[in-house]
Amino acid sequence: MTKKILILPGDGIGPEIIAQAEKVLAFLINERGFDLKLDHGLLGGCALDAVGAPFPDETLKKAKSSAAILLGAVGGPKWESVERSLRPERGLLAIRSNLQLYANLRPAVLFPQLAMASTLKEEVVSNLDIMFVRELTGGIYFGEPRGIRMLDDGQRQGFNTLVYSESEIERIARTAFEVASKRQGRVCSVDKANVLEATELWREVVNSVAKDYPDIELQHMYVDNAAMQLVRAPKQFDVIVTTNMFGDILSDLASMLTGSIGMLPSASLANDGNGMYEPSHGSAPDIAGQNIANPLATILSLSMLLRYSLCEVEIAEQIERAVSRVLSEGFRTKDIHSDGMNCVGTNEMGDAVVKALASIVN
Ligand code: NAD
Repeated sequence: MTKKILILPGDGIGPEIIAQAEKVLAFLINERGFDLKLDHGLLGGCALDAVGAPFPDETLKKAKSSAAILLGAVGGPKWESVERSLRPERGLLAIRSNLQLYANLRPAVLFPQLAMASTLKEEVVSNLDIMFVRELTGGIYFGEPRGIRMLDDGQRQGFNTLVYSESEIERIARTAFEVASKRQGRVCSVDKANVLEATELWREVVNSVAKDYPDIELQHMYVDNAAMQLVRAPKQFDVIVTTNMFGDILSDLASMLTGSIGMLPSASLANDGNGMYEPSHGSAPDIAGQNIANPLATILSLSMLLRYSLCEVEIAEQIERAVSRVLSEGFRTKDIHSDGMNCVGTNEMGDAVVKALASIVN
């Protein structure tokens, strides 16, 4: 049966990097006979400009009728001063929430060819392979009440609410334990239980879910220590499960261990098998339109889409091998470039991956 993939290029570098993943999809459809139908939609600033909403109803309709979604990135300075509820990032939060994409899997894997591009010493990061499991539809990014209010003394006060229910914690903990059972069998749950009641409950619920997974080793760590440990000795981690905001920050930190944020893919999954796949980085307005953005995180996100939503594990692995091969051949975008390597643009990197893929699958 034909499977529909919804493509949301978004803003900034989004359209440039998505175009490279679409080259891979075109190869799969035209050269390998994959029965896929590509549909396109609007999300973020481009949607606000076109139809007056960052997450149009039309996009929700298309998303609900798709097997999976591939997203570029949203946001940029152009929309920073628009009313808060209309900002591009609100569109992103809304699609995650509407589709109940509560589990954000962010692998931080170091390709050995990029050990030199990491800001840390090679021996600290070689063979790094961490899976972040970030809660994505709850916590302080969604908690109510929120806003900026006027106090009696005439000054303004900003406020947000960190809130987690037991069921929200339980389902993300189960995801983490399941993921760990297919890896090294170790989960580190990151919280701030010494200060925040919401994460005191987090720790309690994670402990009770752990009883169903006696073969998985569970450790708890405060977020400040986790940040330090990620830089000191990152290879101690297998799976890290944490809240929405802590996961947002720690996974960006981990991106630099792997050389560049331009290398990190992500999958956002719902219980019903719905999935949205996107690079971990943002819309990088500072480099948009210059053909210098790294498209590999987006191509690796497509590989996660094929693996998790379409169960096409073989082609997913072949795409990962194609990425590894272009790195071995010396192709580098500017963010991962080092002396002696072949510095290429976004387009050229996309072409190189398709060429490598063709030679791997044929
Ligand atoms: P960013 O991730 O866009 O950029 C941070 C830095 O990394 C910049 O120097 C950028 O040039 C670089 N970078 C990012 N992706 C790259 C790539 N593929 N290749 C090479 N370099 C890359 O984060 P930011 O600057 O904090 O945010 C910019 C905009 O993106 C904001 O509007 C923000 O709200 C939005 N944002 C969107 C998402 C998303 O769509 N999922 C995530 C984070 C930020």
